[in-house]
Amino acid sequence: MSIDTGQFRDALIDERARVEHALATLRDEHPGSLDDEVEEVANDNHLAETATATLGREIDYTLGDNAEQVLSEIDDALQRIDAGTYGTCVSCGQQIPRERLEANPWASLCIDCKRRAEGG
Ligand SMILES: [Zn+2]
Repeated sequence: MSIDTGQFRDALIDERARVEHALATLRDEHPGSLDDEVEEVANDNHLAETATATLGREIDYTLGDNAEQVLSEIDDALQRIDAGTYGTCVSCGQQIPRERLEANPWASLCIDCKRRAEGG
């Protein structure tokens, strides 16, 4: 295998810290106050900022829904690095393209298996 797992381990550990921090921040923010926040910004007549605030909150919600899942996938990927199987599809055993790992370091499936898993 020609993959530099050290590089991906660093990326995974960085991402893990980032997701954990975002998750902790979300928990502190008491989700559900979106309406209040948008109203406040709108009253300042900054419509562009309203859009930005809404978009940012939507991303946060998505992250909140997915963060636990991402954390467990990152942990799995770190375990695969230790086990020496990192970069191989856990379903079919084929090498996962390096570009895919660089875009998504915790990917455990090659693109074909991923598509199959998603039913598309
Ligand atoms: Zn596969």
